[in-house]
Amino acid sequence: MALLELKGICKSFPHAKGNLRVLEDLSFTVEEGEMVAVVGPSGCGKSTMLRIVNGLMQPTAGQVLYKGRQVDAINLECALVFQSFALMPWLSVKANIEIGLEARGLPPAEREKRAGVYIDKVGLDGFEEAYPRELSGGMKQRVGLARALAVEPRVLLMDEPFSALDALTAITLREELLDIWQAADMPVHNIIIVTHIIEEAVELADRILVLSSGPGRVVADLKVDLPRPRDRRKEGFNALTDKVFSLIEERA
Ligand code: ADP
Ligand code: MG
Repeated sequence: MALLELKGICKSFPHAKGNLRVLEDLSFTVEEGEMVAVVGPSGCGKSTMLRIVNGLMQPTAGQVLYKGRQVDAINLECALVFQSFALMPWLSVKANIEIGLEARGLPPAEREKRAGVYIDKVGLDGFEEAYPRELSGGMKQRVGLARALAVEPRVLLMDEPFSALDALTAITLREELLDIWQAADMPVHNIIIVTHIIEEAVELADRILVLSSGPGRVVADLKVDLPRPRDRRKEGFNALTDKVFSLIEERA
């Protein structure tokens, strides 16, 4: 059984001129342990798809199955990382990380301990009491990552997590993300990462789903068979990048 299965997902939003159809018959599966990248033009419904996967939003039609069961409320085994970091500016790093734990009913002592563990894991040791405004973009996203990891999710959902960062910071964070995903002592088994940076998808993922727009559906599901660590100087990297580019262009 697949870990996650989307079956014929449709999503429309009420709109001045009738309904806006954002997703139409979107179907794919994610197997246990996979890292899947989702690429597609801006506005094709990628963020909407992530919200539907974790149960924050219900589809207009179709089903999301997680371990064979229909998702009809927020899936507590998933955690989201946002492009804009979504930190509370009036809270310290530690308090930002503890928010999700409080929502899940962890007692204060346990929250503090967990926050400490994941602050360490993302390399923010010493910044527990800092405020978001004192941090660089890369450090803010480390907080976003620690906040998601602290709930010990099985599935990490990432919405363009490195798009707001400079290229060098993004390279470092991508490497660290791979380490986190591969580490035996990390609860994260699966990652679904939405990105418009095609090289990022090729570098990280086991599979790349290409979505079309208007309305969004899967137009290609590509397996990435390149050995890790990957980079653009290695054989096969550019060929796959070009292929994904042309699939998106064809549809645009
Ligand atoms: P992407 O992440 O691929 O850029 P989104 O999922 O954010 O795309 O949005 C797809 C489309 O759905 C956009 O046209 C957006 O304006 C619209 N949309 C997204 N969320 C809502 C909402 N809550 N209400 C109305 N329209 C929405
Ligand atoms: Mg989006």
